[in-house]
Amino acid sequence: MASPKLHDFRRIVVKVGSSLLIDSAAGEVRAGWLTALAADIAELHRGGRDVMVVSSGSIALGRSRLKLPRGPLKLEESQAAAAVGQIELARTWSEVLGAHGIGAGQILVTFQDTEERRRYLNARSTIGKLLEWRAVPVINENDTVATTEIRYGDNDRLAARVATMASADLLILLSDIDGLYTAPPGSNPDATLISVVESITAEIEGMAGAAGSELSRGGMRTKIEAAKIATSAGTHMLIASGKIDHPLKAIAEGGKCTWFLTPANPVTARKRWIAGSLEPKGTLTIDAGAVSALRAGKSLLPAGVIRVDGQFSRGDAVIVRGPDTHEIGRGLVAYDAEDAEKIKGRSSPDVMMILGITGRAEMIHRDDLVVGTAPA
Ligand code: GLU
Repeated sequence: MASPKLHDFRRIVVKVGSSLLIDSAAGEVRAGWLTALAADIAELHRGGRDVMVVSSGSIALGRSRLKLPRGPLKLEESQAAAAVGQIELARTWSEVLGAHGIGAGQILVTFQDTEERRRYLNARSTIGKLLEWRAVPVINENDTVATTEIRYGDNDRLAARVATMASADLLILLSDIDGLYTAPPGSNPDATLISVVESITAEIEGMAGAAGSELSRGGMRTKIEAAKIATSAGTHMLIASGKIDHPLKAIAEGGKCTWFLTPANPVTARKRWIAGSLEPKGTLTIDAGAVSALRAGKSLLPAGVIRVDGQFSRGDAVIVRGPDTHEIGRGLVAYDAEDAEKIKGRSSPDVMMILGITGRAEMIHRDDLVVGTAPA
C-alpha cells in the first residue's frame, strides 16, 4: 500500500523525545533545532490542522538545572528533577510557539488520566477546548507525582494513548532513527528500512526487539507498543528521524520514515468500542424530536430526555431508547445519573441554573454516541 500524505491529516500528535530536545553535554535545549520544529508545527497549524505536542525532557532538563551528577536517579530524585525541568520545558514551548502567535497549553497527565473513564473524559474535553481555541496542547507525563507502579515511564506509549484519546488521525514519533529496519542498521549492512507496516505481526515485533537504538527511555520496542495502541484505535502512526532540522517538513516532502497504518478511522474505532465493549450502566429515554435529531447525526441535549434509569456516573455507557422504549443507540453520558435526572427535559440555560455551573451543553456528545446499535 502507498504511504499516506502528511497533508491529508486533520489532527496530528507530534512526540519529541529528550535526546532530540536536549543537548546532553550542555544540558540545554537545542534551541536552533526546536525553533525549526516550531516553524514546521506552525505551518501545519496554519493549514487548519489541530496539532498537539507530547514533549519529554523534564527530567533531563531538571537534572542539568540542578547540576545533578551523572548516573541513574532514584524515583524521588527524578520526580524532584522533573519539577524543576518541567517549568523550563513549558516556558520553552510557550516561547517557540508564541513566536508564531500560537498559544501553548501545558497538560500533565498521569496513567490514571488516560485509563479511568471519568478522568479520561475530562482530559479529553480540555484538549478539545484548547484545539477549538487553536492552541497547541503540550503534554507530558506528570512525572512529579507518577510513581513506578502507575506510570507510563516512556512517552511513546503515553503519546499513543493521548492521540487515541483526542481522536487524532496521526501520531508522529520523532526519533533518533528514521524508522523501523529489518535488522540493526548499525551492524548489518543489509538492513533495509520498512516504509509501510500494514499490520504488526510477530515478525515486525522481532525486528523491533533487535533494532532498539535510542538512548532515552523508549527504544523501538515501546514504539511498536505505541503503534499497537494507535492503530487499533484508528490512529495512523509514523516513526521518522528528528535528528535533522525541519523534520516535519521532511516528512511532508516524502522523506524516509516508517508508517504504521490503521484499518479504521478514529471515530469509527471509538464508536465500535462504545457500541460493543462497554457494559451499559443505565438508560435514557428520549422524545421523538430527539430521536430524529440523533438520527440526523446531532448530539443528545438534556431537553430531549424524558426519563433517566440506572445508577451511572459521568463517562459511563448508557442505552438510549425512543419514546416507545425501542433502542436507538448507545453512548457515553456526560452527567451522573443524579444530575441527569435534575436536568432532563430542560433547556440549556435552565441546566446552567439547576446545576450552578456552565456545564457541557450535551447529555451525550455526538462523538460519544453510536446510533443504530439495535435492529430497527
Ligand atoms: N516524561 C519523561 C520526561 O519528561 C520522559 C519519558 C521518555 O523519555 O519517554 O523526562
